[in-house]
Order: sequence, then structure tokens, then C-alpha cells
Amino acid sequence: MRLNDPVNAPVQELYAPLFSQKEVRVFMQRDDLIHPNISGNKWRKLKYNLLEAQAQKHNTVLTFGGAYSNHIHALACAGQVFGFKTIGIIRGEAHVPLNPTLRDAVNFGMQLHYIDRELYRQKETPAFIKQLRAQFGACYIVPEGGTNELALKGTAEIIEPKANYDAIFVPIGTAGTISGIIKSTTSKVYGVSSLKGGTFLREDILNLIKPHHGNFEVLTDYHFGGYGKLKPKQLDFIKKFRAKHNILLDPIYNSKMAFAFYDLLQKDQIPTNSKVLLIHTGGLQGWRGFVQRGIADESFLM
Ligand SMILES: *Cc1c(COP(=O)(O)O)cnc(C)c1O
Repeated sequence: MRLNDPVNAPVQELYAPLFSQKEVRVFMQRDDLIHPNISGNKWRKLKYNLLEAQAQKHNTVLTFGGAYSNHIHALACAGQVFGFKTIGIIRGEAHVPLNPTLRDAVNFGMQLHYIDRELYRQKETPAFIKQLRAQFGACYIVPEGGTNELALKGTAEIIEPKANYDAIFVPIGTAGTISGIIKSTTSKVYGVSSLKGGTFLREDILNLIKPHHGNFEVLTDYHFGGYGKLKPKQLDFIKKFRAKHNILLDPIYNSKMAFAFYDLLQKDQIPTNSKVLLIHTGGLQGWRGFVQRGIADESFLM
């Protein structure tokens, strides 16, 4: 497997009485199937960064993330698959035993370093970066969540050039995924924030896509209490969606994205005859942390 290989992200049509009633056609792009461990959009975001790291002859890649981070998990696995040493700077204190995300990361060969929340906030300052390089030697640094210009080059490949959807739905964290999509399509793009209070996201996206403007809308009312929370209504939606379509959505991003689409559809905010694409960005490894903390039962472990 090589970074430049074409990815396998099938698009499947979803059927439901609500869709026929509202006269829309709905498709889901399965980026969650790209790789079992280098999850969906994280593959897209890492692709050109790792090609660049190779071109710069780096053998070590360093990044940042929280203890349950999909990005940390994906980079750790990518390091093993593509032959990089990886270093993960983790926010907060070390907990033993390691949670499933970090345990995998270590098993993939990632070296973990914990820093307190205060210092973590300064992780992008030149002084801190300088200190990291002094401590770890030459390394290619990928920002938290993997979002930078090269990430956008990768996420701009999510939508097939010949695709002709009226609306595209995608979840938002740091906005790297949606920004690449907006740059590469003329469809209207709906981004669903998984964070509480995502009012700054619109501005972040405009900065990332400059000088483009794009046709997009950020939905901030579907965070279900915020990042990492899991409300009964959300869990119920995930179960029904799985029973109906045989597709498992992740608890942090895609369940909120799909819920938002259903809600807009029910409220007649999606025009009839629309062809809609929902992008499943992956993140299923995240379930294990919820199961471990007793927030979800084991039926969500795939
Ligand atoms: C990281 C992540 C996102 C958010 O992507 P951004 O580019 O940070 O907006 C969405 N879905 C999944 C599954 C993720 O892991």
C-alpha cells in the first residue's frame, strides 16, 4: 500500500420513507472504509503531509492531540505502514492503563509525551516548537487534527471531479476537511460542528479557503452538548441509522452530521429533487473510549 494509491471510498445510496416523501435522493460516501486504522478523513489529511515528509527525507513525524484523538491514532498507524517514527504530544496527564486509542498508538510504535493543558495551549508558539526540535531532533511536524495547507490538498480529493450533488454534508472539527471540499466543488456544502459554540468556524473556513469564497453553511446547533458528549437522543439515532442502513456512525462527528441532515430534511430546508451526499469521515475507533468509560455498550465495537 502506498500513499498515492487510489483510495477505496464507495458511494452507496440510502433509502428511507422520509427520503421518498421529501423527494430527495441520498448517498453516503464511505471514507470510513479507506483503511481499518488510518481513519477516513485523517488519511486524506495525512496523505500529502507524509509525501512531503518523505520528500524532505524526514524519518520522524511529530504531532499533537488529546487522549482519544482519531488523528493521533491515524498518524501512529500511518507511521507503521509507511515507515516513519512517530511522536505524539498528548494533552494532559498520563493514565495507566492506557486507553484503547493510546494503547494502539503505542503498539503501532508511536512514542508518547504528555504535556499539561497550559503548555498544550502554547504548542504552536515558535519557542515551544524550537524546544521540541531540541528535544526530539529533526522531525516533520503536523499540527493538531492534521489541518494545514497540504491537508486541504488531500481533502480536496474527497469529492470525485464528476460528482454532481446539490448538497454535501460533512462534519467539522478543525475545519480542514470541509475547507478542502468547499474548494473542490460547486455543490452547496453543509458543515456540522461537533463542538459547542462553533461561531468562529465560519471565519476559520474563510481563512483556510482564501481566496475562494465557496458556497457553504456552518450548522452549530447539532453538537449534542459538545465534543465527546453522547446524549440519549443521539445514541438512539445512531442505533436506528445502523438498523436501517447497516452503517455505524461514530459518536463524535458523523452521528451529528447525519442527524443534522435528517433534521433539515424534516424541516423542509432541503429542496425537493435534491441529490444529497453525506460523507462518512470514519472515526469508529472512538467508540472504544465511550465503551471503556461506560457511556456506550459493547454493541458499538463494530
Ligand atoms: C478529525 C475528524 C473530523 C473533523 O475533521 P476536521 O478536518 O478537523 O474538521 C471529522 N470526522 C472524523 C471521523 C474525524 O476524525
